[in-house]
Amino acid sequence: MAEMNLNIGSKISIQKTELDSLIKALRETGYETIGPVMQNQVISCAPIEKLDDLPQGYSSEGERGYFRLQQNNHNRYFDATPGSDSWKKFLFPPRTTLFYAARENGSWKEFINQEEDKKYAFIGVRPCDLAAINIQDKVFIREDYVDPIYSTRRANALILVVNCLYPSSTCFCTSMGTGPQATTGFDLSLTELEDVFLVEIGSDAGISLVQNIEWRPASANYLQIASQKMEKSAQKITRKIEEPQSVPALLLSNLAHPNWDEVGGRCLSCTNCTLVCPTCFCWEVEDSTNLAGNHTQRTRVWDSCFNLSYAAQAGGNIRPTTKSRYRQWLTHKMGTWVEQFGESGCVGCGRCIVWCPAKIDITEEVNSLREATS
Ligand code: SF4
Ligand code: SF4
Repeated sequence: MAEMNLNIGSKISIQKTELDSLIKALRETGYETIGPVMQNQVISCAPIEKLDDLPQGYSSEGERGYFRLQQNNHNRYFDATPGSDSWKKFLFPPRTTLFYAARENGSWKEFINQEEDKKYAFIGVRPCDLAAINIQDKVFIREDYVDPIYSTRRANALILVVNCLYPSSTCFCTSMGTGPQATTGFDLSLTELEDVFLVEIGSDAGISLVQNIEWRPASANYLQIASQKMEKSAQKITRKIEEPQSVPALLLSNLAHPNWDEVGGRCLSCTNCTLVCPTCFCWEVEDSTNLAGNHTQRTRVWDSCFNLSYAAQAGGNIRPTTKSRYRQWLTHKMGTWVEQFGESGCVGCGRCIVWCPAKIDITEEVNSLREATS
Protein backbone atom coordinates (compact mmCIF):
# COMPACT_ATOMS: atom_id res chain seq x y z
CA MET A 1 0.00 0.00 0.00
CA ALA A 2 1.33 3.46 -0.87
CA GLU A 3 2.49 6.13 1.60
CA MET A 4 -0.39 8.59 1.58
CA ASN A 5 -3.21 9.45 3.97
CA LEU A 6 -6.53 8.79 2.33
CA ASN A 7 -9.16 11.51 2.68
CA ILE A 8 -12.36 12.47 0.97
CA GLY A 9 -11.16 14.02 -2.29
CA SER A 10 -7.99 11.89 -2.50
CA LYS A 11 -7.16 10.64 -5.99
CA ILE A 12 -5.49 7.30 -6.44
CA SER A 13 -4.96 4.81 -9.24
CA ILE A 14 -5.64 1.08 -9.16
CA GLN A 15 -4.82 -1.69 -11.60
CA LYS A 16 -7.97 -2.85 -13.34
CA THR A 17 -7.75 -6.28 -11.72
CA GLU A 18 -8.09 -4.58 -8.33
CA LEU A 19 -11.72 -3.83 -9.18
CA ASP A 20 -12.20 -7.58 -8.99
CA SER A 21 -10.79 -7.55 -5.44
CA LEU A 22 -13.10 -4.66 -4.60
CA ILE A 23 -16.16 -6.56 -5.87
CA LYS A 24 -15.08 -9.60 -3.87
CA ALA A 25 -14.56 -7.52 -0.69
CA LEU A 26 -18.00 -5.95 -1.11
CA ARG A 27 -19.64 -9.35 -1.49
CA GLU A 28 -17.85 -10.68 1.57
CA THR A 29 -19.26 -7.83 3.63
CA GLY A 30 -22.84 -8.62 2.59
CA TYR A 31 -23.32 -6.28 -0.36
CA GLU A 32 -25.23 -7.39 -3.44
CA THR A 33 -22.97 -6.08 -6.18
CA ILE A 34 -24.85 -4.67 -9.19
CA GLY A 35 -23.20 -3.49 -12.37
CA PRO A 36 -23.62 -3.10 -16.13
CA VAL A 37 -24.09 -6.48 -17.76
CA MET A 38 -24.79 -7.45 -21.35
CA GLN A 39 -28.23 -9.03 -21.47
CA ASN A 40 -30.44 -9.46 -24.55
CA GLN A 41 -28.13 -7.28 -26.66
CA VAL A 42 -28.37 -4.27 -24.34
CA ILE A 43 -26.62 -3.16 -21.17
CA SER A 44 -28.71 -3.88 -18.07
CA CYS A 45 -28.06 -3.21 -14.41
CA ALA A 46 -27.81 -6.70 -12.92
CA PRO A 47 -26.01 -8.67 -10.20
CA ILE A 48 -22.29 -9.22 -10.84
CA GLU A 49 -19.88 -11.46 -8.99
CA LYS A 50 -16.59 -10.57 -10.65
CA LEU A 51 -14.85 -8.18 -13.02
CA ASP A 52 -15.37 -10.57 -15.95
CA ASP A 53 -19.14 -10.10 -15.66
CA LEU A 54 -18.74 -6.53 -16.96
CA PRO A 55 -19.08 -5.89 -20.72
CA GLN A 56 -15.36 -5.61 -21.53
CA GLY A 57 -14.61 -4.66 -25.13
CA TYR A 58 -18.13 -3.45 -25.90
CA SER A 59 -19.18 -0.04 -27.17
CA SER A 60 -22.66 1.21 -27.92
CA GLU A 61 -24.45 3.41 -30.38
CA GLY A 62 -27.73 5.12 -29.68
CA GLU A 63 -30.05 7.25 -31.77
CA ARG A 64 -33.76 7.99 -31.87
CA GLY A 65 -35.49 4.63 -31.51
CA TYR A 66 -32.16 2.81 -31.91
CA PHE A 67 -29.58 1.10 -29.66
CA ARG A 68 -26.83 -1.25 -30.76
CA LEU A 69 -23.90 -2.88 -28.95
CA GLN A 70 -20.68 -3.52 -30.82
CA GLN A 71 -17.76 -5.67 -29.79
CA ASN A 72 -14.60 -3.70 -30.44
CA ASN A 73 -10.93 -4.29 -30.12
CA HIS A 74 -10.41 -2.58 -26.76
CA ASN A 75 -10.03 -3.79 -23.20
CA ARG A 76 -12.22 -1.24 -21.41
CA TYR A 77 -15.14 -2.34 -19.21
CA PHE A 78 -17.33 0.76 -19.09
CA ASP A 79 -17.53 2.17 -22.63
CA ALA A 80 -21.06 1.01 -23.49
CA THR A 81 -23.76 3.42 -22.34
CA PRO A 82 -26.67 2.13 -20.24
CA GLY A 83 -29.65 0.47 -21.92
CA SER A 84 -33.28 0.88 -20.98
CA ASP A 85 -33.12 0.15 -17.28
CA SER A 86 -31.44 2.04 -14.49
CA TRP A 87 -30.65 1.79 -10.77
CA LYS A 88 -34.23 2.93 -10.15
CA LYS A 89 -35.41 -0.67 -10.36
CA PHE A 90 -33.43 -1.52 -7.21
CA LEU A 91 -34.29 1.50 -5.06
CA PHE A 92 -37.88 1.83 -6.29
CA PRO A 93 -38.70 -1.61 -7.72
CA PRO A 94 -41.39 -2.03 -10.41
CA ARG A 95 -43.44 -4.18 -7.98
CA THR A 96 -43.23 -3.98 -4.20
CA THR A 97 -45.42 -5.80 -1.70
CA LEU A 98 -46.53 -3.17 0.82
CA PHE A 99 -48.39 -5.56 3.07
CA TYR A 100 -50.26 -8.81 3.12
CA ALA A 101 -52.47 -10.65 5.54
CA ALA A 102 -52.88 -14.42 5.62
CA ARG A 103 -55.36 -16.48 7.61
CA GLU A 104 -53.61 -19.25 9.54
CA ASN A 105 -55.24 -21.56 12.10
CA GLY A 106 -58.30 -19.36 12.36
CA SER A 107 -56.52 -16.04 12.88
CA TRP A 108 -54.95 -13.42 10.57
CA LYS A 109 -51.21 -12.87 10.37
CA GLU A 110 -50.08 -9.55 8.99
CA PHE A 111 -46.87 -8.55 7.25
CA ILE A 112 -46.08 -4.88 6.74
CA ASN A 113 -43.08 -4.10 4.55
CA GLN A 114 -41.43 -1.29 6.55
CA GLU A 115 -37.94 -1.87 5.35
CA GLU A 116 -35.75 -4.44 3.75
CA ASP A 117 -32.23 -5.26 4.71
CA LYS A 118 -30.95 -5.09 1.14
CA LYS A 119 -27.41 -3.80 0.86
CA TYR A 120 -26.63 -2.81 -2.67
CA ALA A 121 -23.28 -1.71 -4.10
CA PHE A 122 -23.96 -0.04 -7.44
CA ILE A 123 -20.86 -0.29 -9.62
CA GLY A 124 -20.66 1.83 -12.77
CA VAL A 125 -23.31 4.47 -12.05
CA ARG A 126 -23.13 7.19 -14.73
CA PRO A 127 -23.02 10.80 -13.50
CA CYS A 128 -26.47 11.50 -15.01
CA ASP A 129 -27.87 8.44 -13.21
CA LEU A 130 -26.33 9.60 -9.94
CA ALA A 131 -28.16 12.90 -10.46
CA ALA A 132 -31.34 10.88 -11.09
CA ILE A 133 -30.91 9.04 -7.77
CA ASN A 134 -30.52 12.39 -6.02
CA ILE A 135 -33.75 13.56 -7.65
CA GLN A 136 -35.63 10.44 -6.53
CA ASP A 137 -34.30 11.07 -3.01
CA LYS A 138 -36.28 14.32 -3.03
CA VAL A 139 -39.43 12.42 -4.00
CA PHE A 140 -39.14 9.57 -1.51
CA ILE A 141 -37.24 11.14 1.39
CA ARG A 142 -39.19 14.31 2.07
CA GLU A 143 -39.54 16.44 5.17
CA ASP A 144 -43.21 15.53 5.48
CA TYR A 145 -43.00 11.90 4.37
CA VAL A 146 -40.24 9.32 4.20
CA ASP A 147 -40.85 6.17 2.17
CA PRO A 148 -39.50 3.43 4.47
CA ILE A 149 -38.61 0.97 1.72
CA TYR A 150 -36.80 3.45 -0.54
CA SER A 151 -35.04 5.25 2.30
CA THR A 152 -33.68 2.05 3.83
CA ARG A 153 -32.39 0.76 0.52
CA ARG A 154 -30.89 4.15 -0.27
CA ALA A 155 -29.19 4.53 3.14
CA ASN A 156 -27.57 1.11 2.71
CA ALA A 157 -26.44 1.68 -0.89
CA LEU A 158 -22.83 2.26 -1.89
CA ILE A 159 -22.30 4.13 -5.13
CA LEU A 160 -19.29 3.68 -7.41
CA VAL A 161 -19.63 6.15 -10.24
CA VAL A 162 -17.95 5.77 -13.62
CA ASN A 163 -17.29 9.04 -15.42
CA CYS A 164 -18.35 9.03 -19.07
CA LEU A 165 -15.54 9.12 -21.60
CA TYR A 166 -17.61 7.70 -24.49
CA PRO A 167 -21.04 9.37 -24.41
CA SER A 168 -23.82 8.37 -26.77
CA SER A 169 -25.14 10.78 -29.39
CA THR A 170 -28.42 10.83 -27.42
CA CYS A 171 -26.76 12.15 -24.22
CA PHE A 172 -27.33 15.79 -23.27
CA CYS A 173 -26.10 15.83 -19.66
CA THR A 174 -24.00 18.94 -20.31
CA SER A 175 -27.21 20.94 -20.90
CA MET A 176 -28.73 19.63 -17.67
CA GLY A 177 -25.54 20.12 -15.62
CA THR A 178 -25.29 16.45 -14.64
CA GLY A 179 -22.25 15.12 -16.54
CA PRO A 180 -20.10 13.80 -18.07
CA GLN A 181 -18.16 13.89 -14.78
CA ALA A 182 -19.60 13.42 -11.29
CA THR A 183 -18.37 15.91 -8.72
CA THR A 184 -20.17 14.86 -5.56
CA GLY A 185 -22.60 12.31 -4.06
CA PHE A 186 -20.58 9.14 -4.70
CA ASP A 187 -18.52 6.84 -2.49
CA LEU A 188 -15.93 6.28 -5.20
CA SER A 189 -15.67 7.77 -8.65
CA LEU A 190 -13.78 5.85 -11.34
CA THR A 191 -12.34 7.15 -14.59
CA GLU A 192 -11.29 4.28 -16.81
CA LEU A 193 -7.95 4.86 -18.57
CA GLU A 194 -6.26 2.30 -20.83
CA ASP A 195 -4.34 0.47 -18.11
CA VAL A 196 -5.71 1.73 -14.78
CA PHE A 197 -8.76 3.16 -13.06
CA LEU A 198 -8.24 6.62 -11.66
CA VAL A 199 -10.27 6.71 -8.45
CA GLU A 200 -11.54 9.71 -6.51
CA ILE A 201 -12.70 9.06 -2.96
CA GLY A 202 -16.05 10.62 -2.10
CA SER A 203 -16.94 9.36 1.39
CA ASP A 204 -15.67 7.64 4.53
CA ALA A 205 -17.20 4.42 3.19
CA GLY A 206 -15.11 4.95 0.04
CA ILE A 207 -11.96 5.29 2.16
CA SER A 208 -12.73 2.00 3.94
CA LEU A 209 -13.36 0.30 0.61
CA VAL A 210 -10.00 1.09 -0.90
CA GLN A 211 -8.23 -0.12 2.26
CA ASN A 212 -9.04 -3.61 0.92
CA ILE A 213 -7.08 -3.22 -2.30
CA GLU A 214 -3.69 -2.26 -3.78
CA TRP A 215 -3.50 1.38 -4.84
CA ARG A 216 -1.04 4.17 -5.59
CA PRO A 217 -1.38 7.93 -5.42
CA ALA A 218 -2.61 9.14 -8.82
CA SER A 219 0.36 10.29 -10.90
CA ALA A 220 0.39 13.71 -12.56
CA ASN A 221 0.45 11.93 -15.91
CA TYR A 222 -2.73 9.94 -15.20
CA LEU A 223 -4.47 13.04 -13.87
CA GLN A 224 -3.61 14.95 -17.02
CA ILE A 225 -4.76 12.14 -19.32
CA ALA A 226 -8.05 11.86 -17.42
CA SER A 227 -8.66 15.58 -17.56
CA GLN A 228 -7.99 15.71 -21.32
CA LYS A 229 -10.29 12.77 -21.92
CA MET A 230 -13.06 14.34 -19.82
CA GLU A 231 -12.79 17.56 -21.80
CA LYS A 232 -12.97 15.65 -25.08
CA SER A 233 -15.99 13.73 -23.82
CA ALA A 234 -17.85 16.95 -22.95
CA GLN A 235 -17.08 18.29 -26.43
CA LYS A 236 -18.52 15.14 -28.02
CA ILE A 237 -21.91 15.87 -26.43
CA THR A 238 -23.53 17.98 -29.08
CA ARG A 239 -27.21 17.27 -28.36
CA LYS A 240 -28.54 20.21 -26.38
CA ILE A 241 -31.47 21.84 -24.72
CA GLU A 242 -31.17 25.53 -25.57
CA GLU A 243 -31.26 27.87 -22.53
CA PRO A 244 -32.25 25.18 -19.98
CA GLN A 245 -32.96 27.75 -17.22
CA SER A 246 -35.81 29.27 -19.20
CA VAL A 247 -37.46 25.96 -20.21
CA PRO A 248 -40.13 25.98 -17.43
CA ALA A 249 -41.38 29.42 -18.50
CA LEU A 250 -41.23 28.42 -22.17
CA LEU A 251 -43.34 25.29 -21.63
CA LEU A 252 -45.83 26.74 -19.18
CA SER A 253 -46.54 29.87 -21.20
CA ASN A 254 -47.26 27.87 -24.37
CA LEU A 255 -49.73 25.23 -23.22
CA ALA A 256 -52.05 25.89 -26.19
CA HIS A 257 -49.32 25.92 -28.85
CA PRO A 258 -50.05 23.81 -31.99
CA ASN A 259 -46.76 21.90 -31.48
CA TRP A 260 -48.54 19.82 -28.82
CA ASP A 261 -51.06 18.65 -31.44
CA GLU A 262 -48.24 17.62 -33.75
CA VAL A 263 -46.32 15.59 -31.16
CA GLY A 264 -49.58 14.23 -29.74
CA GLY A 265 -50.31 12.88 -33.23
CA ARG A 266 -47.05 10.91 -33.26
CA CYS A 267 -46.98 9.69 -29.65
CA LEU A 268 -48.37 6.19 -29.12
CA SER A 269 -49.00 6.61 -25.37
CA CYS A 270 -46.94 3.44 -24.99
CA THR A 271 -45.40 4.61 -21.63
CA ASN A 272 -41.86 3.56 -22.66
CA CYS A 273 -40.38 6.99 -21.94
CA THR A 274 -41.68 6.99 -18.37
CA LEU A 275 -40.60 3.41 -17.66
CA VAL A 276 -37.04 3.99 -18.87
CA CYS A 277 -36.72 7.42 -17.27
CA PRO A 278 -34.55 7.16 -14.14
CA THR A 279 -36.46 9.97 -12.41
CA CYS A 280 -40.12 9.11 -13.20
CA PHE A 281 -41.79 7.94 -10.02
CA CYS A 282 -45.55 7.51 -10.65
CA TRP A 283 -47.06 4.43 -9.09
CA GLU A 284 -50.39 2.94 -8.17
CA VAL A 285 -51.42 0.33 -5.65
CA GLU A 286 -53.13 -2.93 -6.51
CA ASP A 287 -55.15 -4.89 -3.98
CA SER A 288 -55.68 -8.58 -4.56
CA THR A 289 -57.35 -11.38 -2.64
CA ASN A 290 -57.13 -15.07 -3.42
CA LEU A 291 -60.20 -17.12 -4.26
CA ALA A 292 -59.97 -19.10 -1.02
CA GLY A 293 -60.32 -15.84 0.90
CA ASN A 294 -57.34 -16.55 3.14
CA HIS A 295 -54.71 -14.22 1.61
CA THR A 296 -54.94 -10.54 0.73
CA GLN A 297 -52.17 -8.31 -0.47
CA ARG A 298 -51.42 -4.71 -1.44
CA THR A 299 -48.70 -4.15 -4.08
CA ARG A 300 -47.13 -0.92 -5.31
CA VAL A 301 -46.51 -1.00 -9.07
CA TRP A 302 -45.00 1.51 -11.47
CA ASP A 303 -47.58 3.55 -13.32
CA SER A 304 -47.27 6.20 -16.01
CA CYS A 305 -48.91 9.53 -16.75
CA PHE A 306 -49.34 8.20 -20.31
CA ASN A 307 -51.87 5.63 -19.06
CA LEU A 308 -55.44 6.82 -19.54
CA SER A 309 -56.40 5.50 -16.13
CA TYR A 310 -53.77 7.67 -14.42
CA ALA A 311 -55.89 10.79 -14.90
CA ALA A 312 -59.27 9.20 -14.21
CA GLN A 313 -61.12 11.05 -11.47
CA ALA A 314 -64.65 11.15 -10.17
CA GLY A 315 -66.70 12.74 -12.92
CA GLY A 316 -64.34 12.02 -15.82
CA ASN A 317 -60.78 11.96 -17.09
CA ILE A 318 -58.75 15.16 -16.93
CA ARG A 319 -56.32 14.07 -19.67
CA PRO A 320 -58.36 12.10 -22.18
CA THR A 321 -56.10 12.67 -25.23
CA THR A 322 -52.57 11.53 -26.02
CA LYS A 323 -51.66 15.16 -26.67
CA SER A 324 -52.74 16.16 -23.15
CA ARG A 325 -50.79 13.27 -21.64
CA TYR A 326 -47.59 14.03 -23.58
CA ARG A 327 -47.91 17.71 -22.60
CA GLN A 328 -48.42 16.72 -18.96
CA TRP A 329 -45.29 14.54 -19.02
CA LEU A 330 -43.02 17.15 -20.60
CA THR A 331 -44.36 20.16 -18.71
CA HIS A 332 -43.98 18.29 -15.43
CA LYS A 333 -40.57 16.79 -16.23
CA MET A 334 -38.96 20.04 -17.33
CA GLY A 335 -41.40 22.64 -16.00
CA THR A 336 -43.39 22.26 -12.78
CA TRP A 337 -40.84 19.77 -11.41
CA VAL A 338 -38.59 22.77 -10.75
CA GLU A 339 -41.27 24.38 -8.57
CA GLN A 340 -42.00 21.07 -6.84
CA PHE A 341 -38.47 19.79 -6.20
CA GLY A 342 -36.17 22.75 -6.86
CA GLU A 343 -34.60 21.34 -10.04
CA SER A 344 -35.50 19.88 -13.41
CA GLY A 345 -36.78 16.29 -13.50
CA CYS A 346 -34.61 15.57 -16.53
CA VAL A 347 -30.95 14.62 -16.16
CA GLY A 348 -30.22 14.36 -19.88
CA CYS A 349 -29.60 10.59 -19.98
CA GLY A 350 -31.28 10.29 -23.38
CA ARG A 351 -33.09 7.01 -22.61
CA CYS A 352 -36.50 8.37 -23.62
CA ILE A 353 -35.02 9.28 -27.04
CA VAL A 354 -33.52 5.85 -27.62
CA TRP A 355 -36.49 3.80 -26.43
CA CYS A 356 -39.36 5.77 -27.97
CA PRO A 357 -40.82 3.65 -30.78
CA ALA A 358 -42.12 6.82 -32.46
CA LYS A 359 -38.63 8.41 -32.40
CA ILE A 360 -39.86 11.38 -30.39
CA ASP A 361 -36.89 13.37 -29.09
CA ILE A 362 -37.39 15.44 -25.94
CA THR A 363 -34.61 17.87 -26.93
CA GLU A 364 -36.17 18.46 -30.32
CA GLU A 365 -39.62 19.05 -28.79
CA VAL A 366 -38.31 21.70 -26.39
CA ASN A 367 -36.02 23.37 -28.93
CA SER A 368 -38.66 23.46 -31.66
CA LEU A 369 -41.18 25.04 -29.27
CA ARG A 370 -38.60 27.71 -28.54
CA GLU A 371 -37.96 28.26 -32.23
CA ALA A 372 -41.67 28.42 -33.03
CA THR A 373 -42.34 30.99 -30.32
CA SER A 374 -39.30 33.26 -30.70
S1 SF4 B 1 -36.75 12.73 -19.55
FE1 SF4 B 1 -35.57 11.40 -20.95
S2 SF4 B 1 -33.51 12.29 -21.02
FE2 SF4 B 1 -34.57 13.19 -19.27
S3 SF4 B 1 -33.98 11.91 -17.50
FE3 SF4 B 1 -35.92 11.07 -18.30
S4 SF4 B 1 -35.30 9.50 -19.79
FE4 SF4 B 1 -33.48 10.74 -19.36
S1 SF4 C 1 -43.27 9.80 -26.27
FE1 SF4 C 1 -42.64 7.88 -27.29
S2 SF4 C 1 -42.10 6.50 -25.59
FE2 SF4 C 1 -43.29 8.18 -24.70
S3 SF4 C 1 -45.39 7.42 -24.69
FE3 SF4 C 1 -45.13 8.58 -26.61
S4 SF4 C 1 -44.53 7.02 -28.12
FE4 SF4 C 1 -44.24 6.08 -26.11
